[in-house]
Amino acid sequence: MQHFQHYIDGVFSDGSAQFESRDPATGQVWAMMPEARTNDVNAAVEAAHAAFFAPEWSLMTATARGKLLYRLADLIAENAQTLAALETRDTGKIIRETSAQIAYVAEYYRYYAGLVDKIEGAHLPIDKPDMEVWLRREPLGVVAAIVPWNSQLFLAAVKIGPALAAGCTVVLKASEDGPAPMLEFARVFDQAGFPPGVLNVITGFGAECGAVLTRHPKVNHVAFTGGPETARHIVRNSAENLASTSLELGGKSPFIVFEDVDIESAVNAQVSAIFAATGQSCVAGSRLIISNKIKDVFLARLKEKAEAVVIGAPDDMATEIGPLCTVGQLDTALDLVARSKGAGAIVITGGQQLDRDGTYFPPTIIDCSHAPDAPCLTHEFFGPVLSVLGFDTEEEALNLANDTAFGLASGVFTKDLTRAHRMIRGIRAGIVWVNTYRVVSPIAPFGGHGLSGHGREGGMQAALDYTKTKAVWLRTSDEPIPDPFVMR
Ligand code: NAD
Repeated sequence: MQHFQHYIDGVFSDGSAQFESRDPATGQVWAMMPEARTNDVNAAVEAAHAAFFAPEWSLMTATARGKLLYRLADLIAENAQTLAALETRDTGKIIRETSAQIAYVAEYYRYYAGLVDKIEGAHLPIDKPDMEVWLRREPLGVVAAIVPWNSQLFLAAVKIGPALAAGCTVVLKASEDGPAPMLEFARVFDQAGFPPGVLNVITGFGAECGAVLTRHPKVNHVAFTGGPETARHIVRNSAENLASTSLELGGKSPFIVFEDVDIESAVNAQVSAIFAATGQSCVAGSRLIISNKIKDVFLARLKEKAEAVVIGAPDDMATEIGPLCTVGQLDTALDLVARSKGAGAIVITGGQQLDRDGTYFPPTIIDCSHAPDAPCLTHEFFGPVLSVLGFDTEEEALNLANDTAFGLASGVFTKDLTRAHRMIRGIRAGIVWVNTYRVVSPIAPFGGHGLSGHGREGGMQAALDYTKTKAVWLRTSDEPIPDPFVMR
């Protein structure tokens, strides 16, 4: 049995309580995790608050901060195998994906390391001859960063990277499901040489740990990734401390295929869009909106590929689909499939739990052409389930794409350039991928509309979003101040 610890004020400790973590591939308890209760959360926020004002951090030059982030990036790359193995063990995300993703996580820290000394203020051409006015860009303060279990090292990097680049300090709350890689990340971070308290890593349950953290009076910003229902709690809690929020939430992203595509290439992209990460991806292309002219041939090839996917142990490099992370995820998938069938949708392949230990659910395709009200079209599965709708005209395709309360990602497959541009303009989502899908980079912003949340992660703006401007007024005249009752 492995045993993990919290990281508060540069010290590793057990936390007030412990909870069990299960291996999703076997259903067996394999590790004990520290559970942050109210006093642990308070200690973490106090540590971050003290570190924010301590001269070791607040007076550190941007250049020196950047060097620490570069060092952190190198350490992540050096420890990528360990971190990947832990994420695979604790969340069931397949090793093929975790090892590739964590190597790329280091690039996110490198990107923000390079930005630190490019966060500049401004000089204003003010309309008064005896004044110099300039803007300082200053860090927001203490950031509460909250991540879900899927791709958590990545989701943490897009918060910790820009927040530290801006000079903030952070309390990161890992998910209660599969927190091992985040707690191990704290050990890697500890070696980089940041002052104590600059980053604190805790885990625990939403009702206590999450709620106490997000309404804490010394928290200035909450950066959240998770589901819309949790986001509502967070926004309500932020009414207590008036912290600003950035919310990266779920999706029901359209994957639109026109009749002029290379079918094999578009089918492969659709497999990646919905079955990679075992469908547990916020940007999953979970609604296939396909031209009726090629629907049958496309679905036949997609079904073949779905049924050929290698389902297996997550730590086997040959595995392409592993278990779902939690029993709750599995129950949601089974329930949504049953209700969609009840609404007239037709399951083309998959749809039932696999007869083996662990939370395995196979690649599933559901044709909703005659079931426009099927819940699988509107509810996020967070699993490998694709819902399908056919269209006859471009206008219909666009209307179907936008017929969602979410607005995170989208994919358009066509060789027609002008049509691609019309679709790019018309789709309401934070990301449009054209003839590709599921590509990310630290350089490009990421985020959504509607129930997919607000704020953007990645890119330069994300670092600026962790700052506030301070307007500085300096009078250059030696004359006595004129009429004190008139505002100038
Ligand atoms: P979740 O919302 O249940 O949990 C996310 C985190 O919030 C966990 O750490 C949890 O402990 C915490 N939490 C729960 N209640 C809380 C409360 N009252 N106050 C503060 N924190 C609380 O999400 P999940 O089921 O773990 O993750 C899946 C969801 O995350 C999906 O909807 C998925 O689309 C979304 N997601 C979005 C993105 C994105 O970038 N847009 C990326 C990955 C996942």
